[in-house]
Amino acid sequence: RSYSKLLIVTTLSGGGLVAYSDKPQKTKKKVLVLGSGWAGTSFLKDLDISSYDVQLVSPRNYFAFTPLLPSVTCGSVEARSIVEPVRNILHKTNGQIQFWEAECLKIDAPNRKVFCHSNIQQLAGSNHFSLDYDFLVIAVGSQVNTFDTPGVLEHCHFLKEVEDAQRIRRTVIDCFEKAVLPDLTEEERRINLHFVIVGGGPTGIEFAAELHDFVHEDLVKIYPSVKDLVKISVIQSGDHILNTFDERISSFAEQKFQRDGIEVLTGQRVISISEKFISMKAKSTGNEVSIPHGMVVWSTGVGTRPVIKDFMEQIGQGDRRALATDEWLRVKGGDGVYALGDCSTVDQRKVMEDISSIFEAADADNSGTLTIKEFEAVVGDIITRYPQVELYLKSMHLADVMDLLKDSEGNGKDEVNIEGFKRALSHVDSQLKSLPATAQVAAQQGAYLSRCFNRMDLSKEHPEGPRRFRTGGRHEFLPFRYRHLGSFAPLGGEQAAAELPGDWVSMGHSTQWLWYSVYASKQVSWRTRLLVVGDWSRRFIFGRDSSR
Ligand code: FAD
Ligand code: MG
Ligand code: MG
Ligand code: MG
Ligand code: MG
Repeated sequence: RSYSKLLIVTTLSGGGLVAYSDKPQKTKKKVLVLGSGWAGTSFLKDLDISSYDVQLVSPRNYFAFTPLLPSVTCGSVEARSIVEPVRNILHKTNGQIQFWEAECLKIDAPNRKVFCHSNIQQLAGSNHFSLDYDFLVIAVGSQVNTFDTPGVLEHCHFLKEVEDAQRIRRTVIDCFEKAVLPDLTEEERRINLHFVIVGGGPTGIEFAAELHDFVHEDLVKIYPSVKDLVKISVIQSGDHILNTFDERISSFAEQKFQRDGIEVLTGQRVISISEKFISMKAKSTGNEVSIPHGMVVWSTGVGTRPVIKDFMEQIGQGDRRALATDEWLRVKGGDGVYALGDCSTVDQRKVMEDISSIFEAADADNSGTLTIKEFEAVVGDIITRYPQVELYLKSMHLADVMDLLKDSEGNGKDEVNIEGFKRALSHVDSQLKSLPATAQVAAQQGAYLSRCFNRMDLSKEHPEGPRRFRTGGRHEFLPFRYRHLGSFAPLGGEQAAAELPGDWVSMGHSTQWLWYSVYASKQVSWRTRLLVVGDWSRRFIFGRDSSR
C-alpha cells in the first residue's frame, strides 16, 4: 500500500525537478561503502548514484558468490566462475562509483573519516590514505571465530574466502600424494588421509559431502592403492548436525552420512589442535581424546572483525557481541552510519516497550478502551512495525488472541482496556529471533537500504509519508523486514535437502536439481552463470580435475 503511494509522490517530485532545474545544484552528499560482499554490492546495485557521490573500499576487487565456495574446494566449480570483478558491477552504473582496493583499518566517527591501507606493493607513494564521508555504510562481513582455541589459526584451514577454498583443494590433493609415497606404514597413510571438519553447520556439512564425493567419484580411480584408508570425520559440539534446520533434514543428513561412512562425532568440543593431533572433550562425560589428522577444516560460527570491535568501543557498544543497528539499519550511537550483513545485528523493538503508545494511538477517541474493531485494526497495523506480531499470529489465530480478551467468566467483551490489551499481546515478543548470518539477509538489507537512500530527500520533505505508523511521535520509513525464501543443504551424491517457506521440507535427488536451478539463477551476471553451468556440465562428463 505504502509503496504505491510513494511511487506517486516520486513521480510528482520528479516533475517538479524539471521545472526548477536552473536552481543552483546542491553539493552531493558523500556515501562511503566498506565491503564488496553480498551486502555492499546489493546496496550499490540499486543505489541511485545521481544524488550521491559514492565511493567503495574493499580489500578484494571482486564479489564472491559464497554459496558455491564449498564446490570450489573440490573443483566441482572453478574459483574464477564464482567471482565477479567489482568494477564490472560498478560499470553498470555509468562508472560513477569510485573504487579503492584497500582495507579500512579505522573508523573515526567524530570526524566522519575512515583510514585505509592498500596491500598492493607500490613503487612510489604511501599505502595509507583517509576518506571523508557524510554517510558511512559498513558491510565488511565477519571473520572466522576460533573461540580462542589453541592451534586453530596455525594448523586449520578455513572456508570463508575464495583463497581458502583454493588452498583446501591443493591440500586435499597433497594429502593423497603424501599418502602414496613409498616407505610409509599403513597407519601413516591412514593418518594422512584422515580429513577432519570442525562444525556441523551448513558449510561444514556441505564441505564434508563435497569431499566425500570427490574422493569416491574421482580420487579412488587415481589413487586406488589407498582408497580404503580414507576417513572423513565431522566434529559437532551440539547433539545433531545441521541443528538450525528442521529435525527431518538433520536426521536425513545424519542417516545419509552414516551410509556414506562419514563419521559424525556429536557433543564434542575441540580443545586444541596441533600439526598432527586434534584434541577434544566430550561435553557429557568430560573425557578427553586426541586423534591424529591429515588435515582439519575449521568451520564454526562467525566473529567480529577488529576494525568493527574498535568502532564499537568508540560509540559505546563495547560490551556487545555484534554491531547493533535499529530496524532502519542505522548504527546505534553512530551518526550517519549504517551497517548491514554479517558484521551487524538488528536490535528489534519489543511490542511491550511501546505498548502504551500503541494503545494510545489506536484509541482515537481517548476513551481508555478500544473497540474490537479498533483492536483488530491496530494488530494489523503493528505487524508492519513489529515482525514478531506476524510470527505470533502464524502460531495462533487472531480469533484465539481475541479469546484472551475474554473476562474470567469467559464472556466476550466489546471493549478492551490497556490491561486486556497487554494480556492479549503479552507473548508476542517471545517470537523475536535474531537474523541469521546469511547471504539472503545481507542481500535483502542492501536492497532495502538503497531504497531508503534513494528516497532520503523525499522523507525529509514529507516527514508524514510514506510511513504513517507512529511510535512516540516519530514518523519513519517502514523498518527492514526479512523475508525468508528458504535454505538448502547439499548432502552429496546428487542429493540435497531444502527448507522452504510454509514449513515445506524436501529432500533427495529432485531437491538437488532445484538447488542447481536456484543457484544458477542467483548468479550475479550472465558471465558467471555460464561459467558455473559450464563447470557443472564438465564435471558430469569428465569428473573433477584432480591436479594440484
Ligand atoms: P561478505 O559477503 O563477507 O562481504 C564482506 C566484504 O567486506 C568483502 O568484500 C570483504 O573483502 C570486505 N572487507 C573485509 N574487511 C574489510 C575492511 N576492513 N575494509 C573494507 N572492506 C572489508 N549464505 C546463504 O544465504 N546461503 C548459502 O548457501 C551460504 N553459503 C555459504 C558458504 C560459505 C562457505 C560461506 C563462507 C558463507 C556462506 N553463506 C551463505 C553466508 C554468506 O556468505 C554471508 O552471510 C554473506 O557473505 C554476508 O554478506 P556480507 O556482505 O555481510 O559479508
Ligand atoms: Mg558486503
Ligand atoms: Mg561475499
Ligand atoms: Mg547480520
Ligand atoms: Mg476508544
